[in-house]
Amino acid sequence: SVDLSETAKLFAGKPAVDGITTRIEAGEFFVVLGPSGCGKSTLLRLIAGLEPLDRGTISLGGTAVSAPGLHVPPEERDVAVVFQTYALWPHMSVRDNVAFPLECDGLGRQAARTGADQHLRTVSLTEHADRKPADLSGGQRQRVALARCLASGSGLVLMDEPLANLDPHLRNRMEEELLAFHKASGATVIYITHDQREAMALADRIAVMEAGRFVQVGAPEDIHDRPETAHVARFIGRAA
Ligand code: ATP
Ligand code: MG
Repeated sequence: SVDLSETAKLFAGKPAVDGITTRIEAGEFFVVLGPSGCGKSTLLRLIAGLEPLDRGTISLGGTAVSAPGLHVPPEERDVAVVFQTYALWPHMSVRDNVAFPLECDGLGRQAARTGADQHLRTVSLTEHADRKPADLSGGQRQRVALARCLASGSGLVLMDEPLANLDPHLRNRMEEELLAFHKASGATVIYITHDQREAMALADRIAVMEAGRFVQVGAPEDIHDRPETAHVARFIGRAA
């Protein structure tokens, strides 16, 4: 499980994440839904260990990894991340970007490249395997990042708006691939979006975020049918 207790992060004295307490169960598909600037990416970076926190604690699988004065580095957290900005290796081909985590897991070069090609097929990028990220469109880069994440084999997968730059048709297909990946891998997924339809389609549970806080956490249908605040009602597309 991922356990947050009063987790907070301030920038120049202003909270971006403002005291979040929640438990995300192992194997859950947990979606964080909220408007631009509400602190979603900051929360993900805290869980990944890319930022130290200012208050509270974060525990992974029952072990504290972040607290004031405690910071386990990202590479020791066994997390895979799809960043909002992709963060691909610019000097590596598409195939090698996806093969990289497989090689890190101890696969030989050829096996890693074969595995990478499988994941590239999943995201419909087979024909671009030999190109460099700079030669791809935004949506194509986003799919490379997704494939690399699928290749990581991590038990905890953090995704920051991974489908935001895809057209509706591709987005629907990738949503299905994500659900299949989740089912097959048993990974815990924390998935960020500002798209309520996407949240409803993917989530076991949704946390609706506003100004650094979780204002409501629950199953999609509960949040849809019983929004507890006007903000939630607005965001989930139903009048209070
Ligand atoms: P979006 O949907 O636009 O990606 P978000 O919910 O991911 O937004 P964050 O990126 O977490 O929002 O930002 C939350 C708040 O913290 C914003 O007000 C932002 O300006 C601020 N912030 C984020 N990172 C930094 C930083 N490194 N330095 C200063 N302020 C920051
Ligand atoms: Mg963001």
